[in-house]
Amino acid sequence: MIKRLIRKVLGLGAKPSKVQRVPVARHHIQRTHISAAALRTCEVLQAEGYSAYVVGGAVRDLLLGVTPKDYDVATDARPEQVKPLFRRALLIGRRFRIVHVVIGQETIEVSTFRADDTQGAEKDAHGRVLRDNVFGTQEQDARRRDFSVNALYYDPNTEEVIDFHGGLADLKKRTLRMIGAAETRYREDPVRMLRAVRLAAKLGLRIDASTRAPIRKLAGLLENVPPARLFDEMLKLLMSGHANACLQQLRAEGLSEGVLPLLDVILEQPLGERFVTLALAQTDERIKTDRPVSPAFLFAALLWHEVLAASKAREARDERPIPALEAAMDEVLDTQCEKLAITRKLTATMREVWGMQPRFEQRTGQRPWRLLESPRFRMAYDFLALRAASGEVPETLEAWWRSFQFADLDTQKAMLVPDTGPRKRRRRRKKPSAAPTAGTTE
Ligand code: ATP
Ligand code: MG
Repeated sequence: MIKRLIRKVLGLGAKPSKVQRVPVARHHIQRTHISAAALRTCEVLQAEGYSAYVVGGAVRDLLLGVTPKDYDVATDARPEQVKPLFRRALLIGRRFRIVHVVIGQETIEVSTFRADDTQGAEKDAHGRVLRDNVFGTQEQDARRRDFSVNALYYDPNTEEVIDFHGGLADLKKRTLRMIGAAETRYREDPVRMLRAVRLAAKLGLRIDASTRAPIRKLAGLLENVPPARLFDEMLKLLMSGHANACLQQLRAEGLSEGVLPLLDVILEQPLGERFVTLALAQTDERIKTDRPVSPAFLFAALLWHEVLAASKAREARDERPIPALEAAMDEVLDTQCEKLAITRKLTATMREVWGMQPRFEQRTGQRPWRLLESPRFRMAYDFLALRAASGEVPETLEAWWRSFQFADLDTQKAMLVPDTGPRKRRRRRKKPSAAPTAGTTE
């Protein structure tokens, strides 16, 4: 008992891990492949006598020959000791207090080694760790990371990789393995289940059997994760460049049904399956070829058929098309945002893109030019193109807009659809204030 207490106080934990210091000749990470800002951050900290390492996903990706998306640095300096060493640095975070160091265009996340004393940490009823700001040793910091391949530290000074949990060997075997008892680690933070699936799909790793086994049983714990965190993780998953692969794997691991309304929509919905598959494939392709992707566009696409279905249900109850569409948007976004906090900025853009769709059907008078002037025209047109490609609206409608937007004024005028249709005049007589149709031509 006393021995255990002493070990704990000294930060020795239950089982000391076999640390390996691997020289550059064996790991082959080239300094020149590492972000200058990350190197500079480590250099400044080390010059002050602190230890500092590039850590986590960046080291893993460099070892796999993948360009890291972002860089994390781990240090024994406290956040308040880190901040004054850099001209542009911000203290952020509540669950984890970290420093964002901004150098040039890059932001490096600098975190202080954390203790893995999860027994002492504040938790919810299911074992989820609520706050985790106890600082510790590098060894403890390694143990509280999620997967062995994410617990590798690169020292830019010695160019060694420090490996506490056999991450290098796992990478060689292309295996994703949880550090410690997988079930406990998922309970501490259920988002790790989504991370396992995302990283495995993105990097082509196999999830180790004991890491994989508890996921199906624990999937429901995702319910207790704050919606803002789930949103961040879903966004990472959808923007990983491997969204389709990730989603297939989520389904295979039992992480789809009933866990998140968004996943139900994406995976279980036969209605818009072709549309959603196309949207995801397009996103994956754009990310792989380094073209920009708009999260608002993607979320709008994922939820479009929900909005359509809700809007049609309202029209069937005699609501007019435009108000029906508006109400359907509210309905769908309310349901989604309960579990997944899609940011306001995003939902505003999604509404614009959705709301503009019926306007593509109006090709008379001044209306097409007014639509062209909208700042969201490009995104809304791309959305229309996706609808056409999935067979929801005629290809001819998309082709018309593809030509119209680049045509000269005379050609545009000649393209307009005559405004004298008898159908429209009849409708005007019946309902003088009727709004334009929101229905999609099918
Ligand atoms: P990517 O940046 O490609 O999404 P990553 O592994 O770098 O993957 P980050 O969110 O950038 O993911 O996290 C950086 C590091 O922090 C991870 O490599 C891991 O060591 C640690 N980490 C992140 N999230 C968790 C978590 N939920 N539990 C334990 N450790 C985590
Ligand atoms: Mg990262």
